[in-house]
Amino acid sequence: MKKIIKGASIVTEAEVFKADVLIDGEVIEAISEGLECPDAEVIDAEGKLLLPGAVDVHTHMDLDVGFTRSCDSWESGTIAAACGGTTTIVDHMAFAAADVPLMYQVEEYHKLADGNAVIDYGFHGVLQLMSDEKLSEMRRLSRSEGITSWKAYMTYGDNMIDDEWLFKIMKVASDEGLVIPAHCENDALVEVTKAELGAKGLVQAKYHPKARPALAEAEAVSRLLYIAKEAGEAPAYVVHLSSAEGLLEVSKARQLGQKHFGVETCPQYLALTDAAYEDDSEGLKAIMSPPLRKQKDIDALWEALGREGLIDVIATDHCPFTFVEQKQMGREDFRKCPNGAPGVEERLSVIYSEGVAKGRISLTQMVKYLCTEPAKIFGLYPKKGAIIPGADADFVIMDPNAKHVLTIADMHGANDYTCYEGMELTGRIEKVYSRGELIVDNNEFLGGRGRGRYLRRGTSSLVK
Ligand SMILES: [Zn+2]
Repeated sequence: MKKIIKGASIVTEAEVFKADVLIDGEVIEAISEGLECPDAEVIDAEGKLLLPGAVDVHTHMDLDVGFTRSCDSWESGTIAAACGGTTTIVDHMAFAAADVPLMYQVEEYHKLADGNAVIDYGFHGVLQLMSDEKLSEMRRLSRSEGITSWKAYMTYGDNMIDDEWLFKIMKVASDEGLVIPAHCENDALVEVTKAELGAKGLVQAKYHPKARPALAEAEAVSRLLYIAKEAGEAPAYVVHLSSAEGLLEVSKARQLGQKHFGVETCPQYLALTDAAYEDDSEGLKAIMSPPLRKQKDIDALWEALGREGLIDVIATDHCPFTFVEQKQMGREDFRKCPNGAPGVEERLSVIYSEGVAKGRISLTQMVKYLCTEPAKIFGLYPKKGAIIPGADADFVIMDPNAKHVLTIADMHGANDYTCYEGMELTGRIEKVYSRGELIVDNNEFLGGRGRGRYLRRGTSSLVK
């Protein structure tokens, strides 16, 4: 069955132009002005924006953190994503509970996602408790499973990757053309500070950001990038950059000529400040790592996004825990609170409103950061993240001028709060298509459970 989307302003990473789009089944067949196709269903999008379906390369659906799990299943979490204009996710796996082969978690993740996800999805592998055997397994699985990125955590107890292993991992990544997304925080700065605060009884939510200072991020970003460079410019990727100090280290590396690495930030670091922690109870909602920062950090990150060349991707780190129950584990001590917050449904709306409508970034830049660059960096382009003939027919139709208020009552995930409650937004998502199928219409999810497909990913644009 063919469809024609007529009259929209198409937004790509490079330009905004008026044209019609002809869809044949699951893919885009043609794009041009005045397209006619007598037997096609016509979708009138006059006055609307047509964006590529957004790609969120940092989610944690149904994440097992040892003592609880993030509250979105692969079904509820991907429905939330779809309603927020995201048609593809690449999810970061949980640590395995024991020292098992890397393939173990890959199989576990297929059990969670297959038959449940409503949009297309891939997995980042997770590295922990490293050995030479696991390094060779990483090489093998990248080809056999289409998992071309492997996450390293520079903090988090026994699962932390130390410098020795980070260097060895980067050498393999450089050799094989694999991306290494890294959680950048200096473990010692965080752990010693946390213990000191605990010893003084300073354990309310407001001490969470004090335990994870910006310099801990900056130091780890700098170390990651130097190690990647020394390993032959391995394709490192900084996840969830949150601070001006961290950004400065990115900028230094770029100035020293390092090209083959990527940097991601998230809407929460662009729209919310650490004032969220002032109230001991409400503050639990925003306990995430890294923590929310200051207005100066927000300004620095937006400025970098507007200027281009420093930050490549805006993803979410969607990792929701319910306020009424799960977040209460941290009521007496923030160190016991599960770390993470929702965001997969809010991303496009918040970035359009705070970024484009407020003139901090352009429409093309928004598409670059939310759709095209994440697809390129994680081996999904041009099937995903692009409006070109042959690409999957994944789209968002958006009314650029409609106004509404963001509230949990209108949202679709399993969580009971949003960090952006009450935020007044410009722009509204009207329709979302995934592989040619209308899956969201006027905030109602229409797709079926399990319609999402596993994506075997290819080579990253960061590879030399
Ligand atoms: Zn994460």
